[in-house]
Amino acid sequence: MTVTIELKGGIAVVTVDNPPVNALSQALRQGLLEAAETLDADPSVKAVVLTCAGRTFIAGADVGEFGKPPQPPHLPDVVARIESAAKPWVAVIHGAALGGGFEVALACRFRVAAPDASMGLPEVRLGLVPGAGGTVRLPRLAGVETAVAMVTTGQPVKAVNALSAGLIDTIVEGDLTEGAIAFGRGISNAPLPAPLSERGVASPDAGFWEMAETSVAARAKGEEAPFRALACLRKAAESDFETAMAFERETFLSLRGSTQAAALLHVFFAERAATRPPELAGVEPRPIRSAAVIGGGTMGAGIAAALRDAGLPVILVERDQAAVERGLANVAAIFEGSAKRGRISAEIAAERIAGVTGSANYAAAADVDLAVEAVFEDLEVKRAVFAKLGEVCRPDAVLATNTSYLDPNAIASGIVHPERFLGLHFFSPANIMKLMEIVPAAETATEVTAAGFALARLLNKIPVRAGICDGFIGNRILKVTRAQAERLLLSGATPAAVDAAMRAFGLPMGPFEAQDLGGLDIAAFQRRAARARGETPFAPIADRLCAVERYGQKTGGGWYDYQPGERKPHASETVAAIIAEEAVHTPRRDWTPSEIADCIVLPMVNEAARILTEGVALRAADIDLVKIHGYGFPRWRGGPMAYAEARGLAEVSDALTRLAETGLAEPPCALLKQAAGGGKWPWP
Ligand code: NAD
Repeated sequence: MTVTIELKGGIAVVTVDNPPVNALSQALRQGLLEAAETLDADPSVKAVVLTCAGRTFIAGADVGEFGKPPQPPHLPDVVARIESAAKPWVAVIHGAALGGGFEVALACRFRVAAPDASMGLPEVRLGLVPGAGGTVRLPRLAGVETAVAMVTTGQPVKAVNALSAGLIDTIVEGDLTEGAIAFGRGISNAPLPAPLSERGVASPDAGFWEMAETSVAARAKGEEAPFRALACLRKAAESDFETAMAFERETFLSLRGSTQAAALLHVFFAERAATRPPELAGVEPRPIRSAAVIGGGTMGAGIAAALRDAGLPVILVERDQAAVERGLANVAAIFEGSAKRGRISAEIAAERIAGVTGSANYAAAADVDLAVEAVFEDLEVKRAVFAKLGEVCRPDAVLATNTSYLDPNAIASGIVHPERFLGLHFFSPANIMKLMEIVPAAETATEVTAAGFALARLLNKIPVRAGICDGFIGNRILKVTRAQAERLLLSGATPAAVDAAMRAFGLPMGPFEAQDLGGLDIAAFQRRAARARGETPFAPIADRLCAVERYGQKTGGGWYDYQPGERKPHASETVAAIIAEEAVHTPRRDWTPSEIADCIVLPMVNEAARILTEGVALRAADIDLVKIHGYGFPRWRGGPMAYAEARGLAEVSDALTRLAETGLAEPPCALLKQAAGGGKWPWP
């Protein structure tokens, strides 16, 4: 039974039990409706306590029902029935009350929560708005300011903040159900507050809606749902309950079939699938309970912080004692920064800092389950590190490299027990960025690859398996897009126009701004290495900038000029002159923002298709995850593969052919041409 009822001396305890997360399936909706009917008819019942079994309250819609015709009873009707029940219902929230789950809680006359509970309306993250009165009832409960903050971002609220915002009536310490029953007894004789549908909304300050619109625009970057959610909330504040409900429903239905909602749903399912790839089903991962990080620079410190955040003790190994001190200071700076931004408390920061110890002696890593190398990007340096780790670490310890471009097989060659070696490619800042490329080498054991995926789950990251090639999945595509950005400059676009066009496409930053922020020297180093291998990377302008040490913000100039101590980019005459010199033989023309975006994004898709053909990525959706979580590709566009398919693979292929005819891109690859015929990639 999904919904059961137990009577406890005038209080009915309705228990929802629909593992794993009490999702609002048809059976659950039906059960709740019937419970309301049954309990209204029972004169012995004074109040109803709605509680959930397992680890959470109702955590949202049943994703298994997505894309299928909705079956009655529909959630808005269930919510309305609970709200109009003759007996007061008390929602008892533990874990998370999200989406439809929180809308059910809003239907109840009271809400109580466990101290660690959270609640929210995350529908915008799936390109939707709440569909069962969330935008209408929430402002009636907590005011428009709280409602706008919650619904337009989709961010959940923790119990303590929920209490101060008026979302819940009390926090129950100790036994939650017993506490809720006691609460139910307390209210059963008192006059009841009006149901939310009968309450009004306090008017916000003048100018509130305009400010809210501006802040949504700054965050949404082309995403539609947050604007539509804001419109629903405004309607809720400015009209009667029924009108607002109808407006929310209409908005919900129009978004449900939208391209953006489809793209966001695609990403949601891809993320769920990523952590447990079918090829590793049944493989027991090697356990990882402690770690060493070799190298305490930008990446090493970030990786150490990520491992500590997940509760692992970490040993940082550096070249000498002075480098150890610098590395530990880098780690401390990360946690202190997190505390300053309010992400963690000062006590937690201190505890995490204390959990990272340093050593200049590799023997300190003798007993760890995992050693991650993040030293200079130099094959011989890395091989020397793994030779030492091979000697000191336990034979079953996982040994991982964070190399960006070197061949993991070359790094691993000669180490003892090579089956324990793996590429774990983190992204900077490693304690923040969600993506982790997992790169098995030729001799990596499956339980070691599985350990990489288990580690990603522990670190709350999105793991994507990548095969070995120059740059794996993400940086290989990055090389193509950077070359495209330079081709655009030679063909008449300016750095500012290219950056603006890519921001308009939905990226947080354009390619030139991003290079100036990260520094042009790392890519220059890669190009030198590639040329030494006989390759011919295309970066005529970046090469010229690096030759005059214009490495970006850190040198006061890169693709743009910067005033000392400032980050605001200014168009550079030096750069314009270099572009003009390099472009003497290239026809120049004006570019519209969408032409610029095509010239960068479509070759990205083409390279992604090649990556798929070569098996460097196992699934098209994995490439979408890499670009979204490692490179800022707009989530609401679904990643490059989903974007191309939604736009039409035939159109993408034709547009690439036209770009290729003018020398601005490679022609469509075989897979793209083939997929263009049927309009679909080979998913999954
Ligand atoms: P970094 O120069 O900031 O840090 C490298 C650290 O390694 C230094 O602190 C150095 O003292 C230490 N080191 C060098 N040799 C050592 C040795 N033998 N034993 C112990 N420590 C040693 O470099 P980084 O940016 O942190 O990059 C490290 C690795 O991570 C590289 O392979 C790089 O390609 C990769 N990576 C970098 C990024 C990025 O954005 N910076 C992203 C992903 C991967």
